Amino acid sequence: MPYHLETLAIHAGQEPDATTGAVMTPIYQTSTYAQEAVGQHKGYEYSRTGNPTRSALETNLAALEGGDFGLAFASGMAATDTVLRLLSPGDHVLAGNDVYGGTFRLFDKEFKRYGLEFSYVDASDLDQISAGLQENTRMVWLETPSNPMLKLTNLAGAADLLRSIENPPYLVVDNTFATPYLQRPLTLGADIVVHSTTKYLGGHSDVVGGAVVCRSNEVQQRLAFLQNAAGAVPGPLDCFLVLRGLKTLPVRMDRHASNAAAIVDYLADHPAVKAVFYPFHASHPQVELACTQMRNGGGMISFIMQDGSAAARRVAEQTKLFTLAESLGGVESLIEVPAVMTHASTAGSPLEVDPGLVRLSVGLEHIDDLRADLASALAAAD
Ligand code: PLP
Repeated sequence: MPYHLETLAIHAGQEPDATTGAVMTPIYQTSTYAQEAVGQHKGYEYSRTGNPTRSALETNLAALEGGDFGLAFASGMAATDTVLRLLSPGDHVLAGNDVYGGTFRLFDKEFKRYGLEFSYVDASDLDQISAGLQENTRMVWLETPSNPMLKLTNLAGAADLLRSIENPPYLVVDNTFATPYLQRPLTLGADIVVHSTTKYLGGHSDVVGGAVVCRSNEVQQRLAFLQNAAGAVPGPLDCFLVLRGLKTLPVRMDRHASNAAAIVDYLADHPAVKAVFYPFHASHPQVELACTQMRNGGGMISFIMQDGSAAARRVAEQTKLFTLAESLGGVESLIEVPAVMTHASTAGSPLEVDPGLVRLSVGLEHIDDLRADLASALAAAD
């Protein structure tokens, strides 16, 4: 019987060290490897091409996502950049209109210059995805839940839709918000999964990293070529930190989600809050899809303040436990105002974010302390 995800998170890709018995994968802090004769080595030649700590992480990530191949990168953006290089000038990318601001910036400010075309649709609506496809569409880029509005895409439906057309484009899912513990896009028909391992996979706000997982041998070959050729690889210590974080991913995600669910209930009833966005909350327009596609609602919440942007800024500046900072997915709670922080690069574009929106990354602190912190910040912001 295949192991459960909780077991894979701790063991996949990792054996006690053959020479010392060390239970934890060593940090192979080396750039190069001795060869017995020219071209005769133990599988590693140079650490841009491959490193044993990185290999352990890559195997682990592939196992967690239900993929065949994993590739680790120096950041989530490096992973995204590498996946886009599968395309050629003249190709079209159809993307969700609610994605991480840095992803939009890379598409719009960089890859457009190299002759890729981009358009954006509300990916919570499969009809809009269908209508947005062009003859030259070679990639569909989705976030579900999306950043920052927590919209969902029906992944099995999107995969069926793309498979029904001739020469289907790659279906790429940035699974950073959900993590493989909540949903596994490859098992629902996606071709490629992208991660910022900086977030929940690392889980402790102490490392920046990225990953790509896929099933196709051909895609893996091309991505591995690019990983080595362009060289945006993580160092062994960073790989070790993500591996260590992954071991507790399932227990962390359960607590992130139960804390977030309680915070959402609190915010939904608060008079200063106009609307809350959380996949497992009754007010979410896709709550039914959320409950079939995801194991729980995760740790991310967004909400819009009744009094708009000034009130959003005031709340974000008043919390004490929720640290005012970009990023997400760590054990500590964070708060931010996407329009002027993580998504500032979308200003003036169709992806522009409501200035009254506040985003929370709900951490693992005691729920009573988190609720009290938000209560006093909301009262002070009034
Ligand atoms: N994808 C999502 C959904 C993100 O939120 C982020 C960063 O916030 C990234 C990708 C980029 O990851 P990194 O910051 O590790 O480059």
